[in-house]
Amino acid sequence: METTERGAQRAQELFENLGGSVNDGFPAIHSPVSHTGAGTAYLRRPGLVMLAKPQVNVAGLAGFLEGFDPELGFPGYLEDPTTLPDSSQLCKTAGQLCYASFGPRRTKNENAGAYFERLTSAGHGSVLEHSNFSFLLYGISRSVTHELVRHRAGAGFSQISQRYVSGSVLRFVERPEYQSDEELHRMFEERADRAAAEYEAMAGRLLEHQEGGNAMLSADYKTDARKKVQQTARSLLPNETEAPMVFTGNVRALRHIIEMRADAHAESEIRNLAVRLFLCLRTADPILFGDYTFGELPDGTITVATQFRKA
Ligand SMILES: Cc1cc2nc3c(=O)[nH]c(=O)nc-3n(C[C@H](O)[C@H](O)[C@H](O)COP(=O)(O)OP(=O)(O)OC[C@H]3O[C@@H](n4cnc5c(N)ncnc54)[C@H](O)[C@@H]3O)c2cc1C
Repeated sequence: METTERGAQRAQELFENLGGSVNDGFPAIHSPVSHTGAGTAYLRRPGLVMLAKPQVNVAGLAGFLEGFDPELGFPGYLEDPTTLPDSSQLCKTAGQLCYASFGPRRTKNENAGAYFERLTSAGHGSVLEHSNFSFLLYGISRSVTHELVRHRAGAGFSQISQRYVSGSVLRFVERPEYQSDEELHRMFEERADRAAAEYEAMAGRLLEHQEGGNAMLSADYKTDARKKVQQTARSLLPNETEAPMVFTGNVRALRHIIEMRADAHAESEIRNLAVRLFLCLRTADPILFGDYTFGELPDGTITVATQFRKA
C-alpha cells in the first residue's frame, strides 16, 4: 500500500494532470467542448466544479463549553493550534460531542487523521453525514447519471430537464473507447449529428401540431406546449446525450459512491467521474478522504480504493 505522503503526492499529480485547479478553495476539473463538422457540440470527459462545502463555527461552542465545571477545561477546545478543513472539523466536533471529549485529554486536531481512521475502520460513519459537498457535474452522459442517481442515501440531485430545455443546449458525450479509434469516433460524430438533426425535425413537427390545436398535443400555455413537444422529441435521444446536474452528497455517502464507482468493476465512464470526484474531494479535505489509495488498470485508467469500506 502507498504511504500517506506518497498517496497525497499521487493525488496532487493526478489532479493537476487532469487539468484540476483550485479557485478560492473550491477545486474544479473542467472539460473542453468539441464540435463535429456540422457543429454539434460534444464533450469527451466529465467536468466537475465544487459549488459548496461546509463552513464551521467552532468559536460558537464557547457559550456551551463555558457552562461546565471549569476543572474540565472544556474552553481549551477552542485553542487547538492545528486548523482542519471545515468539513473535517465539523465531523470531528460532532463525534467528540458524543463522548463530551472537549477536555485536555481529547484527540487534538493534529491527530484528526487517526481519529477518523478509528471511526471508519469500526464502521461508525454517521458523524461523516454532517459534512456535505455540492458539485456541478457536466460532460456526463444520461447513462452515467442513471447509474449515479441509484445512490439514494445521503445524496441530492437536480438534473437537466429534457422536458423543459430546448435543442439549443443539446450536447453529447463521447465514450473513451470511441476516442482512440478513428472509425468509432467517426461513427459517434455521425450519430450525434443525426440525433441533433432528428430532434430538431421532430420538435418542429410536434410544434406544428401544437399550433394546429391538435388534441393529442394541445396545451394552454407556451411552457406546457414546449414541454409536450420536448418530452416527446426526447424519446429519440441516445444514452450518450449529455445530462448535467448539481449533485450533493454527505461524506458518508460520497465515500460509498467512490468505493462503488471508482472500483475496477465499475463502468468506465462513471469510473472517470468517480475518480475526478475523489480528486476534488481529497484536494478540499485530505483528512476525510486521506485513507484512499490508487490503482492502475491494464488500459492505464485509474481506480481508487480504501481498506475502510462503507463507513
Ligand atoms: C459494478 C456495478 C454494477 C451494477 N449492476 C447493476 C445491475 O445490473 N442492475 C441494477 O439494477 N443495478 C446495478 N447496480 C446498482 C447497484 O445495485 C445499486 O443500486 C447502486 O450501486 C446504489 O448503491 P446502494 O444500493 O449501496 O445504495 P445507496 O443509496 O448508495 O445507499 C448506501 C447504503 O445505504 C443503505 N441503504 C440505502 N437504501 C436502503 C434501503 N432502502 N434499505 C436498506 N438499506 C439501504 C445500504 O447499506 C446501501 O449500501 C450496479 C452497481 C455497480 C457499482
